[in-house]
Amino acid sequence: MKQNKIKVILFAAIGAILLLLLIFFAFSLLGSGGSLRHQHNFKEIVSFDAETHSLKCKCGKTQEAEHVYGAEYELQTEPTCSQKGTGLFTCQYCENTVVKELSMEVPHKYRNGVCSNCNYIETTDESFFDFTLLEDGTYSISVKDGVKDLPKNVGIPESYGGKPITVIAESAFEGNKLLAGVRIPDTITTIGYSAFYNCTKLSYIDMGEEVKVLGRFAFGGCSSLAKIELSDSVEMISAYAFANCSYLKNITMPKKLKFIGNGAFANCKMLVSVKIRGSSLETIEENAFNGCLRLETVVLPNTVKFIGACAFYECGRLTDINIPTSVEYIGNEAFYNCKDLNCSIVFPETLRYLGDEAFAMCRSLEKVTLPANMLNIGNGIFKNCISLTVPTLPETLEEIGYAAFYKCYKLPESLPVSLEKIGSHAFYSCEVGGKINYNGTRSEFSRITIESSAFDSVDATVVCTDGEIVLN
Ligand SMILES: [Zn+2]
Ligand SMILES: [Zn+2]
Ligand SMILES: [Zn+2]
Repeated sequence: MKQNKIKVILFAAIGAILLLLLIFFAFSLLGSGGSLRHQHNFKEIVSFDAETHSLKCKCGKTQEAEHVYGAEYELQTEPTCSQKGTGLFTCQYCENTVVKELSMEVPHKYRNGVCSNCNYIETTDESFFDFTLLEDGTYSISVKDGVKDLPKNVGIPESYGGKPITVIAESAFEGNKLLAGVRIPDTITTIGYSAFYNCTKLSYIDMGEEVKVLGRFAFGGCSSLAKIELSDSVEMISAYAFANCSYLKNITMPKKLKFIGNGAFANCKMLVSVKIRGSSLETIEENAFNGCLRLETVVLPNTVKFIGACAFYECGRLTDINIPTSVEYIGNEAFYNCKDLNCSIVFPETLRYLGDEAFAMCRSLEKVTLPANMLNIGNGIFKNCISLTVPTLPETLEEIGYAAFYKCYKLPESLPVSLEKIGSHAFYSCEVGGKINYNGTRSEFSRITIESSAFDSVDATVVCTDGEIVLN
């Protein structure tokens, strides 16, 4: 009997344990591997941030996911022909919103071939042009001979016969006195010699993004052109490309520009400022800004090596110029008669050549610093710089050229012992004289070749180590 009772209890216990296990198992299934029981429905918003939202199912499980945006939006900015519009999009699951650019295209509104909204010039019919097949299989374009009714605003076509047009040919629009605006497409890489030379009414140029070379005289004599934005692709502004653009006021040089050619901006009489972006420019050829009478500021980047002769000749309003530590060559008369130049000029030790009369007639110039390794100072370099205190002369200096410091304000404090020759009129009529130190003996000083009138009209005494020599 007792044994049976134990058996019953045992069975009951085992049964109870099994039942408990079963219940526990069933609940654990419900809790975790829920797919067995129900499809989660994540609806309740728990939280969201800019990137993701967290949603909760009735069963308590949460899920994090990226926002989902549909096609619907609330218009934020109206799209136009020149600017894509924007819309406010709301996540389909949470309340997060995002402003996105719309992809719809709005056509230009042309009036006489020019969009009244954005100035975009309609592509001109190809019947006005001649196309020449080039060696690389692309075309150059030019206005057909004898065409009378070319639109005032020309949108250059991008292609001809399925091939891109890459070159605006030599003299393509030369001398067209009616052309007012031109749009250059992104297929164009070269604007040829004289392409728009003397287009005296041309006032608007929509420069494509791929132009690399502006040919010689390309926009020379375009006397109605007030401004031009050169695309960053431009690497070369050839000789006289903007010469005699007498109305051009501002120009920003593109980032990739390496070369400004001979006379490129000569006689741009209204040009006030030249901004050079980026740092690729190496060469400024002769006469590049010659006669830019109103030019006030130019900042040269630290890549310029060559400043050609007369590059800034008679830029009478130029007050400030920096000579970067990359400059190796400054040509003759490079800054001749820049009469307002009143900055302090430091010539870098990279300088190999400082041309004759490079800074002559710079009447406002007060202070310059010569490179410590200089061997000779050329003729007339600071001639008639009537405000200039002659700078400390380098310890290596051997020769001072003819009229180098003619009529400068003040004589130098000392002369280097390395000196072998002082050219005629070198210090002629410097206003403030006095004592000049010489770290050598009187006999050493007397071995220097001093040409006629070198110290005429100045009151100067050289203080040698063993006594004084009165000049004149
Ligand atoms: Zn669920
Ligand atoms: Zn969301
Ligand atoms: Zn437009």
